[in-house]
Amino acid sequence: MDVEEKVKKTLKEIGLKKNEKILVAISGGKDSATVAYLLKKWGYRIEGFHIDLGMGGYSERCLAAVKKLCKQLGIRLHLYDIKKEMGSSMCYIRAEIQQEKKGLKNCAICGVIKKSIMNKEARSIKGIRKIATGHNLDDEAQTFFMNILKGSLNLSANSGASTKNIADKKFTPRIKPLFYTAENDIKKYSQKMKLPVVYEKCPCAIDSYRIQIRQFMNTLTTKEKENIMKNFDDLFPQIQKLKSEEGLKYCEICGEPSRNNICKMCQLVRIK
Ligand code: SF4
Ligand SMILES: [Zn+2]
Repeated sequence: MDVEEKVKKTLKEIGLKKNEKILVAISGGKDSATVAYLLKKWGYRIEGFHIDLGMGGYSERCLAAVKKLCKQLGIRLHLYDIKKEMGSSMCYIRAEIQQEKKGLKNCAICGVIKKSIMNKEARSIKGIRKIATGHNLDDEAQTFFMNILKGSLNLSANSGASTKNIADKKFTPRIKPLFYTAENDIKKYSQKMKLPVVYEKCPCAIDSYRIQIRQFMNTLTTKEKENIMKNFDDLFPQIQKLKSEEGLKYCEICGEPSRNNICKMCQLVRIK
């Protein structure tokens, strides 16, 4: 199955409707560019959202690629400048957090902050029903596998091609159209379509454990990665049942939706 067929099949599984307005989180990389390109090509109503992390030349190149892509696709782009909105770049915010919470990985912190910003901003944009991200088969298989090794399979409850079971007025459901599509295939596809993309790696992606897992996973075939996710699909209903029993609450500090009394964002950083 080629990339387009796989993504079409995933969208069918998600049950995405053409009249739903979708906010695509576009990072400047190949994955989210491919998501935006395909959704637009197939006539979905999309707008772009980019967080400028303020990480020097890398962020500048990402921003330029995102602007070019949105212009080519003729879609509206919403920008969130982290320096302006939160006072400093992701590097400083993260370093400050790591002074207190030693051992927390760069991507873990960055991921929580980006997710929180995305959910809040999506709510403020009129008519947005879903957020689409560029997570691919390799990302998902790595995360699932890491959760197994950590003995914390329940952490995979928020995964899946869509967050279908979470219904809340403050939470915008997320979808992952590339959930079953391998990274290599996406790279080739984005090159074939000549999408404006930054192919270099994020300079802050220094998570030695994930890198080890990634190196191991790179020795696997696409079929084997698909099999890992097949196990995930089989187990998913049970994992989700466990989690949904915990229910969605509102953070006692910021009022945002959360699984715990204090949301992950507030556990890391207080924003007004
Ligand atoms: S690779 Fe890690 S540090 Fe870089 S933008 Fe992504 S989550 Fe943030
Ligand atoms: Zn909070």
